[in-house]
Amino acid sequence: MAIARPGKIVCVGRNYQEHAAEFGDAVPKQPLLFLKPATALIGDGDAVVLPFESRRVDYEGEIGLVIGRRIRRASEAQALAAIAGVTCVNDVTARDLQRSEEQWTRAKGFDTFCPAGPRVAPLEPDRLGELEIRCRVNGVERQHGHAREMVFGFAALVAFISQAMTLEPGDLIATGTPAGVGPLKAGDVVEVEIPAVGVLRNPVVAESPGGTARP
Ligand code: ZN
Repeated sequence: MAIARPGKIVCVGRNYQEHAAEFGDAVPKQPLLFLKPATALIGDGDAVVLPFESRRVDYEGEIGLVIGRRIRRASEAQALAAIAGVTCVNDVTARDLQRSEEQWTRAKGFDTFCPAGPRVAPLEPDRLGELEIRCRVNGVERQHGHAREMVFGFAALVAFISQAMTLEPGDLIATGTPAGVGPLKAGDVVEVEIPAVGVLRNPVVAESPGGTARP
């Protein structure tokens, strides 16, 4: 199953204790949600474009969940049953804009700021905690986390989100990044890997004066 354009991309901030600590942030008492626009989505092999407006664009390797069933105000059991599968996500972030602006919409929402793929792997409900996420830049490992280290697990996250908004088939949920985030520069190749899914690999390019990379 490839990634179709989702109706919405729901992201979770500070969902790994060590990542919250690296920015001096407290772990939230309930999941901290924000949205990325569907236009930010790119696939495996597509270029992440560094926008003119930012001087610091970071990778954030994350475990992505793809919703398979429409749910609203779901229990944790219903939420788990509504997850169609798992994929790799890179929650690319203009860190300088995130720090200087109260809302994260612009910092997280530029075109190409949501690489996802290369495929959706079925979820194995009894082995969720074993899911592993790695992020590499130019072949050097920068992040390595396990789903069991998440502050809020998959079922709790999806159930929580569904209290606020209807989740629909194809919606993508990025479940937060482990410690080790850092900057990207033009010419880098960034990879996010989940063993059951494969490797999501994206080159990084500077924005060209002619316009954005989207056709
Ligand atoms: Zn993130």
